Amino acid sequence: MTNNICVTDKCEKDRFIVKKYFAKGTSVNKYLNAINKKSDIVPKKGKYVEVNYDFDRMLHYSDIESMLLSFNNLDIVTLEKLYLTADNRQIYGIEIGKGSKVIYIDANIHSGEVGNTVMLMKFMSELLNRYHNNDKQVVNILNNIKLAIIPCVTPDGYEVYNFGKESLNNKKLWLYKNYDKMNIEHIKCNAKGVDVNRNFPSQHAGLYYKSEKLLSNVSLSKTHKDNRFFCGKVLGIESETKSCMYFMNKHYKNIYVYLDMHSQGRVIYNGKPNLSNKFNKISRKFANYVKSYNDYEVYGLSYEEVGQGNDGTATDYMSELAHGFKYSSEILRLSSGSYVESKAKLLYNYPIVTMETLTEYTRDVTKFKYEYYNKKVRDLLFDMLNCDYL
Ligand SMILES: [Zn+2]
Repeated sequence: MTNNICVTDKCEKDRFIVKKYFAKGTSVNKYLNAINKKSDIVPKKGKYVEVNYDFDRMLHYSDIESMLLSFNNLDIVTLEKLYLTADNRQIYGIEIGKGSKVIYIDANIHSGEVGNTVMLMKFMSELLNRYHNNDKQVVNILNNIKLAIIPCVTPDGYEVYNFGKESLNNKKLWLYKNYDKMNIEHIKCNAKGVDVNRNFPSQHAGLYYKSEKLLSNVSLSKTHKDNRFFCGKVLGIESETKSCMYFMNKHYKNIYVYLDMHSQGRVIYNGKPNLSNKFNKISRKFANYVKSYNDYEVYGLSYEEVGQGNDGTATDYMSELAHGFKYSSEILRLSSGSYVESKAKLLYNYPIVTMETLTEYTRDVTKFKYEYYNKKVRDLLFDMLNCDYL
């Protein structure tokens, strides 16, 4: 933890400006409690029963839970309960493998991006069935690496996007009350109306929310509309964000690669303009590796608008952890402790990439199937386990 005065970017000169213009961060104690949560491992129950799902129907979140519990019966799997959502759904982190190199993956940070969750469930079931059948190659790989996956970060939103607002138990939630007014086909937010992927307490997070009427250089179109990009009134307090922060802090020192899966237009984002060249270079290299499978477009650094107001993403947060940023008691978010620019030093050397699968938001399982096989998401995920891309 640092007590440094933090200057956040070119137009923000000191901590008073941070406090005035940026959304509040959660208190140091609450932050530390969130990332130091007691581990809550799900006990194994009975024998492993193979899961054989092949995109024949859309999965309810309860199906995903049953699959995860089934996976958990293998010795190579550790299933952990993370936080409970506003509508009382359990968010899970799953670890597969005994090795020290961690391949970290998350999906469905945005509610309507449900395809990756389904593809990851399919991928894990294939991998684990092979392990169960003593496939030598898979057994060797899983002795060498560890997959750390949060397959569905926003279970409430996942269920609402797929099955409608009546899937919410608590009818008082923001999402239930606003469902008919919003464009559900583009839903990003959780049940409380917060875009989880803007709620991470990264250095520049939360500018849009507070600056709406204050800064002319901020695009107002990015706030509040269908609660897309709304970071919440306090950073780092959503159950989904806390689940990711806990799991990231558990693993970030041992990560080999972090793949953040989204679903909007077959592109690959990589690098952060405010962080080290070394980091940007390896992230770019991994982005090109991903492209060699699916031919998605690799976007350059200029597409990453760090410091422009829409920060607070999962990859912002993890990239800053990798650069040794600490939570600042002064500004209540991660901080390098000084003026942050490209000099920030990389402490943990791994790429971080956001892969946007599919062409649009969809609940059509035949499209997931196409992406998985024909756009080679499957091949990519399996080959990533070999750790031979850097
Ligand atoms: Zn997304």
